[in-house]
Amino acid sequence: MFFIDYLIFFFIGAIFGSFIHSFVSRQSLKLDSSEISIISPRSFCPHCKKTLTPPMLIPIFSYIFLKGKCWYCKSPIKTSYLFYEILIGIFTVGFFTTFDVSWVSILKYIVCILIIMQILLDYKFLLLSTNISISIILLGLVLAFLDNKISVIDSFIGLCLGYSSLWLINIIFKSIKSKDGIGDGDFIFLAALCTVLGYKLLGPIVLGGSVVSLLIYLISAKKNKLLPFGTGIGFATLFLIFLI
Ligand SMILES: [Zn+2]
Repeated sequence: MFFIDYLIFFFIGAIFGSFIHSFVSRQSLKLDSSEISIISPRSFCPHCKKTLTPPMLIPIFSYIFLKGKCWYCKSPIKTSYLFYEILIGIFTVGFFTTFDVSWVSILKYIVCILIIMQILLDYKFLLLSTNISISIILLGLVLAFLDNKISVIDSFIGLCLGYSSLWLINIIFKSIKSKDGIGDGDFIFLAALCTVLGYKLLGPIVLGGSVVSLLIYLISAKKNKLLPFGTGIGFATLFLIFLI
């Protein structure tokens, strides 16, 4: 890759980073109002509610150009925007230097972006989107078909085992404690991750995920009563995607 390629990948990643940030922050607004989604209304300043024009949405550059303030009301723009843009930019460069640029890699990259969205949703709101999990399942099956790393059968068994293993653990937990120990979202998300990596990696995903969730729980300042298990298995899967 040439230097310009790195720059292009970094910028594409920054666009995804900006998208992920608005998706996650809109999710927190959605908890109060049902009218906000990822596509409507158009991006707006959370302070003065004015709609942002396309030049104000260019990642990183717009932040520098606007000096970190809203064009209209001069309220500071959250630095977390810049953080996500740079972070996903770096991730994207790392991804496409590890994997060749091909249709398979692009699909795999989209899977990673969807997993990152779930990681953040679960970490911030203990929430996992069923639509995102289903999208990962579909992409996982297509990937198994196109890529010869795992077979479609392995991927499909992963889907079934991923779902049923957590479902079974929850049934056992429920019979002892008479309440749900694991959220529904976790079943589908694990099923999705095992569709991507195949059933043979179910063990490493769950084990790695448990360790990560526990670490997050221990270092987290806001002590939730629940472990962000989805965040853990998401991280473990991202790591394994780079490893296999
Ligand atoms: Zn404003």
